[in-house]
Amino acid sequence: MDDRPASTVSALEYDPAPESAAVARLRESYGLFVGGAFVEAADGATFETLNPATEEPLARVAQAGEADVVAAVAAARRAYDKVWRKTTGPQRSKYLFRIARLIQERSRELAVLESLDNGKPIRESRDLDVPLAAAHFFYYAGWADKLDHAGFGPDPRPLGVAGQIIPWNFPLLMAAWKLAPALAAGNTCVLKPAETTPLSVLVLAEILQQAELPDGVVNVVTGDGSAGAALVASPVDKVAFTGSTEVGKVIQRRLAGRGTRLTLELGGKGANIVFDDAPIDEVVEGIVDGIFFNQGHVCCAGSRLLVQESVAEEVLHRLRRRVDQLRVGDPLDKNTDVGAINSAAQLEKIRELTDWGEREGATRYTSPCALPERGYWFAPTVFTEVAQTHRIAREEVFGPVLSVLTFRTPEEAVAKANNTTYGLACGVWSEKGSRTLWVAERLRAGVVWANTYNRFDPASPFGGVRESGFGREGGRHGLEAYLDV
Ligand code: ADP
Repeated sequence: MDDRPASTVSALEYDPAPESAAVARLRESYGLFVGGAFVEAADGATFETLNPATEEPLARVAQAGEADVVAAVAAARRAYDKVWRKTTGPQRSKYLFRIARLIQERSRELAVLESLDNGKPIRESRDLDVPLAAAHFFYYAGWADKLDHAGFGPDPRPLGVAGQIIPWNFPLLMAAWKLAPALAAGNTCVLKPAETTPLSVLVLAEILQQAELPDGVVNVVTGDGSAGAALVASPVDKVAFTGSTEVGKVIQRRLAGRGTRLTLELGGKGANIVFDDAPIDEVVEGIVDGIFFNQGHVCCAGSRLLVQESVAEEVLHRLRRRVDQLRVGDPLDKNTDVGAINSAAQLEKIRELTDWGEREGATRYTSPCALPERGYWFAPTVFTEVAQTHRIAREEVFGPVLSVLTFRTPEEAVAKANNTTYGLACGVWSEKGSRTLWVAERLRAGVVWANTYNRFDPASPFGGVRESGFGREGGRHGLEAYLDV
């Protein structure tokens, strides 16, 4: 074991290796995508989307008003009645395969655009967001002509028009999670991306044109929460929402008694549970992946580390050393590990909650990394001496902030892990399979990872319980949310 204090072990020096922003082929302005064409908002309203790493504007984007949302839903309804509901499974498969291939062809452009608009490191957008988005279309292309054999009866029917609202943390990937199963099952869609990250979804809309998807089968309405609220209020047959628990509850109330189908994928406060027999170096990588991946802007982030008391000191020593080596900075640099916080508002929220961490008596460790002068940044932070009652142990920070708690027995680990209103994901680290299974069976979470964290696959259903929502995305289960079964 290396006993040097964390701050004396410096990261290797790397020369900057930035991707060129020109690859993103940014345009000055982007319209709504309605009925197969890009159009301005009816009242001409627009908003600006920024690069969170520089605070500089990237483009102006149409702000959809109520009339635009109504027009998009009407276009989706027409496309459903006239075209899409009459397509065969193999025809829909063909479109989905085409979309997947085109995402692959334009992957570099999409990755750079995603990193510019969201602030995430290019390594993640290039190796994760974009390939996984393509993988979702490939996967559901494979289901579109096999719905009769998916276990939902001999002739499962689509629901009709789906209104889909997505957040800013994985813009393109969340669009793929929503669109691919909906289209495979024979629905048409109106999708609303988040206001801080509309661009990659608009390029996806271009890809849908390239794929010659019939007009109106997918429509994109950009704008803030008011556009999302208008979509929920519109006569859609299904609402799929990914975002905060707070807005999820508003949507659920709004839809109560209307018979509209609903799935919600909301917040989380995931526990990453480390037993004393787990290999520590792998554990440290898993903890880092669990909380610092995508700046911690991940609903299933492993934001609570539960470490067995007998190994806590060693795990934390190695963790601090590893945290010191994370490179924070230019999202377009291929060496960057942690990029920019997505918005000023999110940065403010992270600051507020971390201030509370100190105020309530937790001990704060902040990586000594230098932060760029402009843009929204937050250094990787680890809190120890955290009590279960502290806000940083209960509330979703949605930033690069880890809260560490300890436990002695598996029973205590399970009790602490379940001591949350959420129930999205957990991780268990142990060499003993029987122990992992014992714990996993008792965790109240939609997803449990064993000896890994933040692992996603289109074939694997994902979703929460309790205040993390309901419904599953991904896998065969993901089809159910878009079928009348
Ligand atoms: P966050 O707090 O992480 O920004 P939100 O839940 O506010 O998450 O946002 C997720 C998505 O929901 C975004 O696309 C946002 O515009 C949209 N949204 C916000 N408020 C509403 C609302 N009242 N009804 C429908 N959608 C909304």
